[in-house]
Amino acid sequence: MTDCITALEYEGGIIAIDSGQVRPQMAACYLLETDSAVAVIEVGNNESADRIIKVLQSRGRDVAEVSHVIVTHVHLDHAGGAGKLMQELPNASFLVHPRGARHMIDPSRLEASARAVYGDETFDEMHGTLIPVPEDRVVIVDEGDSTEVGKRRLEFIDTPGHARHHFCVWDEQTRGWFTGDTFGISYRELDTAGGPFIFPTTTPIQFDPPALKASIRRMMESKPENMYLTHFGRVRDTERLSLDMLSGVDYLAELGERHDGDENRTSNIQSELMDWLISRARTHGVTCSDDDLSEVFAGDVLLNSQGIEFWLDHGRD
Ligand SMILES: [Zn+2]
Repeated sequence: MTDCITALEYEGGIIAIDSGQVRPQMAACYLLETDSAVAVIEVGNNESADRIIKVLQSRGRDVAEVSHVIVTHVHLDHAGGAGKLMQELPNASFLVHPRGARHMIDPSRLEASARAVYGDETFDEMHGTLIPVPEDRVVIVDEGDSTEVGKRRLEFIDTPGHARHHFCVWDEQTRGWFTGDTFGISYRELDTAGGPFIFPTTTPIQFDPPALKASIRRMMESKPENMYLTHFGRVRDTERLSLDMLSGVDYLAELGERHDGDENRTSNIQSELMDWLISRARTHGVTCSDDDLSEVFAGDVLLNSQGIEFWLDHGRD
């Protein structure tokens, strides 16, 4: 494994570690450091566990100091390496949404559904073997619960919309949310003088546009100064970005409904979604070539179209 691991340090003892998935700065894991304890928020895949520990130790902290491992939801780019990481952290509890816990204790169903989305070859390459988290180390976190990392308080709210097994984590000290996928995706290579560029992310099987918009609005009620996105890193300018997210969710739903019934529904949704992302990026001042932009957005166009189509077929009952 490389010794060069991107680890971006923000105010308040928060560090975004590149989890090493797919391409640089695609998915983050976070350390939240206090004098007496450390929390890990998002764990990436099995290989990310080594990266997290390497960065932790490079900061002079010991694995025994990690008191909490938290995943915002159990999609595998966020939680696939949970069992592996827990093996390395003797004193950590594993905090997870009530709907996600059983999938971490027995990851077999999670594995089957991820294989259906990604295909066997990509799954094996990205995730290898999923290791269960021992049940006695799992702490189920309900809406409104809080916990203390050292003397620092974290609060949890239920945030359905991207997935029903999703919560977001409020850090009062920095007035910031660890947003998982609820506040969308903002890749750092698309930053311009206008700030970050953001768009919503959906996947099969639980995209729920009204719930997602309600979750975004709920996070904004706290007047956050920081959003710590899994994809990727800290963004500020939260008011503008929340409006972009709300209109982006409306667009995805409208796009799906407009093409529902098309003979070539999948390809129509994908090509229009790609055009929309590229034209929005252009308006935002992004200057890299269309080819490069298509490459950056390709995986998200695929996942978003699958999320939209699943919602069209199953989610509107
Ligand atoms: Zn997700």
